[in-house]
Amino acid sequence: MKEKNLPQAVSGGMELKMSVKEIFGENVFNLATMKERLPKATVKSLEKTIKDGTPLDAGVAEVVANAMKDWAIEKGATHYTHWFQPMTGVTAEKHDSFITPADDGKIIMEFSGKELVKGEPDASSFPSGGIRATFEARGYTAWDPTSFAFIKDDTLCIPTAFCSYSGEVLDKKTPLMRSVDVLSKEALRVLKFFGSNATRVESYVGPEQEYFLVDKDLYEQRKDLMLTGRTLFGNKPAKGQELDDHYFGVIKERVSAYMKELDEELWKLGVLAKTKHNEVAPAQHELAPIYSVTNIATDHNQLTMEMMKRVAGRHGLVCLLHEKPYEGINGSGKHNNWSLGTNTGDNLLKPGKDPLHNRRFLLFLSAVIKAVDVYGDLLRVAVATAGNDHRLGANEAPPAIVSMFLGDDLTSVLDSIKKGSDSYESISGVIETGVLSLPSIVRDTTDRNRTSPFAFTGNKFEFRMPGSSQSIAGINIVINTIVADALADFADELEKASDPMAKVDELIRDTIINHSRIIFNGNGYSDEWVEEAKRRGLPVLKTTVDALPVFVCDKVINLFTRHGVFSKIEVESRYEILLEDYIKAINIEALTTLEMAKQEILPACLAYSDSIISSVAMKDSIGINAPQQKELAKKLSNGCETLISAINAMDDVMSKIPENDDLVIATYYKDSVLSAMDTVRSAADAMETIVAKDYWPFPTYTELLYKV
Ligand code: ADP
Ligand code: MG
Repeated sequence: MKEKNLPQAVSGGMELKMSVKEIFGENVFNLATMKERLPKATVKSLEKTIKDGTPLDAGVAEVVANAMKDWAIEKGATHYTHWFQPMTGVTAEKHDSFITPADDGKIIMEFSGKELVKGEPDASSFPSGGIRATFEARGYTAWDPTSFAFIKDDTLCIPTAFCSYSGEVLDKKTPLMRSVDVLSKEALRVLKFFGSNATRVESYVGPEQEYFLVDKDLYEQRKDLMLTGRTLFGNKPAKGQELDDHYFGVIKERVSAYMKELDEELWKLGVLAKTKHNEVAPAQHELAPIYSVTNIATDHNQLTMEMMKRVAGRHGLVCLLHEKPYEGINGSGKHNNWSLGTNTGDNLLKPGKDPLHNRRFLLFLSAVIKAVDVYGDLLRVAVATAGNDHRLGANEAPPAIVSMFLGDDLTSVLDSIKKGSDSYESISGVIETGVLSLPSIVRDTTDRNRTSPFAFTGNKFEFRMPGSSQSIAGINIVINTIVADALADFADELEKASDPMAKVDELIRDTIINHSRIIFNGNGYSDEWVEEAKRRGLPVLKTTVDALPVFVCDKVINLFTRHGVFSKIEVESRYEILLEDYIKAINIEALTTLEMAKQEILPACLAYSDSIISSVAMKDSIGINAPQQKELAKKLSNGCETLISAINAMDDVMSKIPENDDLVIATYYKDSVLSAMDTVRSAADAMETIVAKDYWPFPTYTELLYKV
């Protein structure tokens, strides 16, 4: 047969390997590209908005839109979309092509300033927590010029904010940007007293992202993974994580190929993917970017999660971002590294060589201490999700109690201040390895305390409670706002004081004395800490349902409205959405549990137990004495009975779901539905250990965790 003259496929082998430097940001309309394509004045105006947060000059949009479109089309894009972050926690996009009909029956490719600046997606199907009735479907998206547009999937994506017709925000970006503005404003009020000429303060975030990989074929055999993101059944494998051989272990080839491609995709989008390694659990990994300003870090973390999932598919894998895919195995979190910096290059959380006499550092540190103590319950709310409930306090992640770790050095500094002493004991210095040929290593001022939810790590804080699937917007809205609030209090005092520096000392000392209960340098995993925390009066909010009502208490509503981060209606709507999310998540899990138990597990157990029972009966009939096999048959039959009664009990629980307000419903799901699910699971998991492998209807933990 004659070969057809097909065009040459562009195979991996033929592709020219480009350097990281070349591919980095190649799909981003960044400042470098703008400088090539836009008039100088336009670039200057945009640069000012990006760096100083000032409003954009009118008239710039038209010029930018045109240049963006030409650039995108050259890169093969056919569509554009306003890319936004509704309250679903994932990003949303609606694609429009650039085509406009021309007189001659052909088309031209157009994109106007108006289309760049404003979009009107139908908002009715996005969660609004009762803000917007479905008949008021109108929603608006507004261009965020501080986050670069990028090309994904042949589509020009324009980062935007999303709000309703009446102006209430319906997304995560707008309040985040508001919180940064508030933080900047209050920090600058304080900085004035330290002779700073900064005009903008930003919070910086580096989110470390944990995830699991699972083989796609195996995944597709598990309804629970497909529908809920976590396993609702399954026993721990014979080998778990007890050998600690996975953490930082050598990366398997298939995983390594995945990570390489993920890095490349992220670099093309301008995401500063930096660190990758195996995590504690088998098949668990982490990716950390280099930190950036919070708004960008948040956009990039959303893109990272999306790319993690997308690239996995190309390697026959599925990426699980759920907080607890496997029971008995470590779950996944997201460490939110957070710091404060000025546009004059100062990190306000850097202790310097002499922290005891570094008043500016101590005052900003005090603001964080005060904020975390006064609003620890709100930080707990910010990480409250059905998925994260399985993780927090489970001896693998920080407890559900918010506390702060400062390390020995800083604690000793604070003790000296409390005592009014002018010196403190430092542990920093040089570590001697005792080997002449090895260089000596300078010790950090803090050791690591993995058990602390909010730990000072040298020049930043690491908030370790967030769940792996969460958007980092919510957490940083809270951190920015509570720190801004503490700074505002300080600024009020300083502006009234006749001797501001004496006032600074007083504020620092008062904070240390009044808020030291939040500082805990010990083991956060221990039971004693729970008791100790209660004794200190720190809120112990074990579950999402315990935590969420804090969101709508007067203290919190006043905080957000005082600073203009959320209106009262916006807070209340978010509370509704969070409760609904919790209820929906557990409802889906409950229905999936029942479906798998009834349609897959029970039939398998019955079939296997019947086969043993028939074999025993047959042996009996010809006089073969098999008492042990008879016992096994009984055990299997009893196991089936236990499973059936657990299913029936759960059916009963599901038929009695209350119909009052959402908090009552959520409480019912937490107390009754989750425990009914546990009972079904225990019955099924017990059977898994005695039913033949051939009969078991889906892959077990061993396969899921090790066949990657
Ligand atoms: P760890 O040892 O804590 O796992 P990683 O290197 O994995 O450290 O991640 C640390 C994260 O903290 C990175 O994303 C890094 O960019 C970020 N980071 C470093 N310095 C700062 C800072 N000043 N502000 C915010 N984030 C920072
Ligand atoms: Mg870390």
